[in-house]
Amino acid sequence: MEEKFDVIVVGGGLAGITAALVCARAGLETVLFERGEYPGSKNLSGGVLFTPVINQLIPEFWNQAPIERPVTKKLFSFLSRERSLAFEFSSREFAKPPYNNSFTVLRAKFDKWYAEQAEAAGAFIINETVVDDVIRDGERVVGVKARRDEGEMYANLVIIAEGANAFLPLRMGLREPFGPDDMVTSAKEVWSLPAETIEERFNLEPGEGASIDYFGEGACMGLLGAGFVYTNKDTLSVGIGVNVGDVMRRRIPPNNILDWFKSHASIKQLLKGAKLEEFSAHLIPEYGYKKFFDRYGDGYLVVGDAAGFVNTSLYHEGTNYATASGLHAAETAIEAKEKGDFSKDTLKSYEKRLADSFVLQDLKRFREVSSFMHRHPEFLGKYPEEMIALAERYFTVSGEPKEKILKRAVRGFTSKLSLFKMTLDTYRLMLKVLGIHPTWFIFPPKK
Ligand SMILES: Cc1cc2nc3c(=O)[nH]c(=O)nc-3n(C[C@H](O)[C@H](O)[C@H](O)COP(=O)(O)OP(=O)(O)OC[C@H]3O[C@@H](n4cnc5c(N)ncnc54)[C@H](O)[C@@H]3O)c2cc1C
Repeated sequence: MEEKFDVIVVGGGLAGITAALVCARAGLETVLFERGEYPGSKNLSGGVLFTPVINQLIPEFWNQAPIERPVTKKLFSFLSRERSLAFEFSSREFAKPPYNNSFTVLRAKFDKWYAEQAEAAGAFIINETVVDDVIRDGERVVGVKARRDEGEMYANLVIIAEGANAFLPLRMGLREPFGPDDMVTSAKEVWSLPAETIEERFNLEPGEGASIDYFGEGACMGLLGAGFVYTNKDTLSVGIGVNVGDVMRRRIPPNNILDWFKSHASIKQLLKGAKLEEFSAHLIPEYGYKKFFDRYGDGYLVVGDAAGFVNTSLYHEGTNYATASGLHAAETAIEAKEKGDFSKDTLKSYEKRLADSFVLQDLKRFREVSSFMHRHPEFLGKYPEEMIALAERYFTVSGEPKEKILKRAVRGFTSKLSLFKMTLDTYRLMLKVLGIHPTWFIFPPKK
């Protein structure tokens, strides 16, 4: 009779490794398949890893893990072609453990280390092996078909953690094919610079880091998307993420958008003297809550990006949903093992765990982000453009009295924009994209 595991995990990213680590620690026989040379070798993230779950599983992991820098400074910058307007937030609190649970990382290093922790806990990791399909017995998933000799392997539970492409859920008939507007395509480069130059250029204390998100015409040529620069130890992660549908409609390849972004004076200055080390491209699911599909069934659970767990609001978070869903899948596996029942009926408690945690609560709150931004591209175009133009007029020094300059600045602004519409749109933006109900400022929420 063929060998049978308790759990097979497909994909060695943050979601899959978390699931494997927790299952193995609980004594479940766990095997993880990773198609790359090692976990992390195919993984790409702009760089900020959010770590509440990792810190819970490996307390003070930053003392041993290959993190780059804790993020103590966050900037949001609007770029027009020639000008920029930025908001900066920094906190000394974020420079103390647990460092606001936000670290820049290079995933090729971090995921490798994280997978070693799962291996040390007893998980069996098989690299360079693609899983092509699941094996079914009737409706029940009973194993996977891996692309290797004797590649059929059996388990009570298959945890699907294969990231954004989510081919297995498609093959299993769980989801429809993605449409272009469901995905973001991203292009990212890593540039090397001496650590001291990074600290000087970004005005950082030694060892601390910054994340900067860029919006507007100067960042993504007016397409729906954003640019980013994150500081690593002695490299910078520089990239853009743009809606695939918008890329197709405008017929602009993502690489051209990245070149455009890097040619902006603000970015050029940050990259001065830096050396290009690597380039990569990847997809990010942004279909969100409204298009979620069944994430559990007889013998299987779906976690992380494969389940569409990404928050594309201003937070730009996916790593914390990946680790949290991996944890909840593992907790469900442990419960199922104790009951000796891996049926849909038992595995549905995964859904309850997600609903009780920040995973589904956040993703529900921010469910309108993508459709809102599609309906209101002016938030990434016309509005920041006019804000920047207003700032330029406001700060212009001439021989004229200030009142005259200010009146002209406001006149220029109101001639281009309807204040009524902008106020209404901003109200909707706060509600749907920032997640803040504007009335909370008048009637503060009780809890
Ligand atoms: C450019 C970019 C920037 C980002 N920036 C941030 C950020 O700053 N902060 C943040 O929180 N999130 C960010 N994200 C999102 C974040 O990277 C993801 O949400 C997170 O990595 C999801 O983890 P995962 O384990 O679900 O999937 P992944 O990390 O994609 O891992 C999936 C793994 O499965 C493997 N695999 C796939 N198919 C198979 C198969 N058939 N068989 C075997 N193995 C397979 C892959 O090789 C990979 O190792 C960014 C994403 C991108 C692309």
